[in-house]
Amino acid sequence: MAIGYWQALFSGKCPRCRKGNIYKHSLFQPLKFTQMHSHCPVCGLKYEVEPGFFYGAMYVGYAISVATVISVFTAINILYPKASLTTYIVSIIAALLLMIPINFRYSRIMMLYFFGGVKYQPDLIEKKTI
Ligand SMILES: [Zn+2]
Repeated sequence: MAIGYWQALFSGKCPRCRKGNIYKHSLFQPLKFTQMHSHCPVCGLKYEVEPGFFYGAMYVGYAISVATVISVFTAINILYPKASLTTYIVSIIAALLLMIPINFRYSRIMMLYFFGGVKYQPDLIEKKTI
């Protein structure tokens, strides 16, 4: 059964077949969350579309970091209007540190989905196995 575009993106599936995992391990394994498959284990798509492709993920990661800072700042401003500057700084740094695995993985996944030029091909697997 095929899954939708956004479900595939958020679950870290290959953009071409939406079945193979992009990453080898779970998000919650602190030392292994960065390890990617070089090719899709199901359809064989090479994830690094061109040399240095994932350098562009730094810009996506920067956008995620800015969104995190704005979200935490706004939440503190609404929930604790009299919070000190130290509270803001510590909370924002803690949120950014906790977001490292999510930021790293989803910046690469979004780079692959939005800028990789890969089209969804649901029939590819059937053709390959015949
Ligand atoms: Zn695939």
